[in-house]
Amino acid sequence: MSIRLLDAMAREDFEEVVAVQDRRSGLRAVVALHDTSAGPAFGGIRRWNYASEASAALDCLRLARAMTWKCVLAGLPAGGAKTVVLDHGGLDPESAYRHLGRVIERMGGRYYTGPDVNTGERELAWLAAETRYATDPGPEGPQELAESTAAGVFAGIAAGLRHLDGEEDWSRRSVVIQGLGSVGLRLARRLVEQGARVVGADIDERTAQVAVTELGIETVAPGDELDVPCDVFSPNALGGLVHDLTLVRLRARVVCGGANNVLASAAHGDRLHARGILFVPDFMVNAGALIRGALFHLEGRREPVVEIQARVDAVATELLALARELGRPPSRVAVAEASRRLAARRNRLRGCDDAAALSDKGRVSGNHTTSPADTDRKDSDA
Ligand code: NAD
Repeated sequence: MSIRLLDAMAREDFEEVVAVQDRRSGLRAVVALHDTSAGPAFGGIRRWNYASEASAALDCLRLARAMTWKCVLAGLPAGGAKTVVLDHGGLDPESAYRHLGRVIERMGGRYYTGPDVNTGERELAWLAAETRYATDPGPEGPQELAESTAAGVFAGIAAGLRHLDGEEDWSRRSVVIQGLGSVGLRLARRLVEQGARVVGADIDERTAQVAVTELGIETVAPGDELDVPCDVFSPNALGGLVHDLTLVRLRARVVCGGANNVLASAAHGDRLHARGILFVPDFMVNAGALIRGALFHLEGRREPVVEIQARVDAVATELLALARELGRPPSRVAVAEASRRLAARRNRLRGCDDAAALSDKGRVSGNHTTSPADTDRKDSDA
């Protein structure tokens, strides 16, 4: 796989992509800032053993772009970013994360980072030692990030069920959860509390056992969950789950989960739609941690989880209704709507910049009693 980086950036209007290399720690990383037009960009650090540099860069771009969509749909004055670290046997994790922390610190607050796959509390502590712009996993930080995400996914599932049947009717529902980690376990707890039947699967036996012991849910062997008939299939492990081979196996009416980029490609959203399976797009529902973290950093407050749930519910309900009205797959409609809102926001801000520039000119020239209109005329005369 190869990638023409500047072309890929131009297609999605990326602002900046930084490649980071540090021989001492073995760090090889890509940091992508998609949008800082309305405020700082937010996005965690994913550490993964990528097949190639190109697939790492592509993953980084896709994830950063989705972060912008989440910000826009959630109405946050912020944009999307992501970092991927190419994992390999020679990596010294502490020294690598510390190096990355210094790189992020030098960005001066344009980028705030946080957890993602293989970046947990330990890695965040290393980052926090070097930068002010990393999420503090302790009591001084935003807290309840996974709970916020689970609340949003729960809201997305509820919106999906109401969309299909006009009601949630939890006691009659069955939900299959793939991945019972931080988000999956919390989602399972919420569903069990509502009286839904939950079937889970996790490749980590101990993690699955925690869910069984704590919540009394059923589990199936990893892989088998795809074949379980259910109302809702909820992917909360890794992205790219819905592809040619899995799509035909799903026996759910709704697919809605916290994993980023659930669809292997946009066409798979169309195929789910054609099969009559309602796909509630991940970036519409898994913004809980982002909302909580961004508002903590931007406004110094912890948005209550119940408010986060309500925000996601409102967005999901609105966009599913729009998809029905347009007769198009929700995945397409959500992307189009996020892109439309982003373009409108950029235009508005650009308009503000232009107006500010003009009024600055007016102010500066005002000393010489020149109006913005006069300045314009002079500029065009020149
Ligand atoms: P996690 O690492 O705590 O949990 C993921 C779980 O999935 C693990 O227990 C792992 O063993 C399991 N798993 C991996 N592959 C599997 C497979 N093929 N089948 C079954 N189980 C499998 O991660 P998390 O924080 O719970 O996040 C879950 C997903 O949600 C990730 O894709 C993450 O990027 C996304 N996400 C998380 C948050 C958040 O707030 N934590 C926010 C947005 C998106």
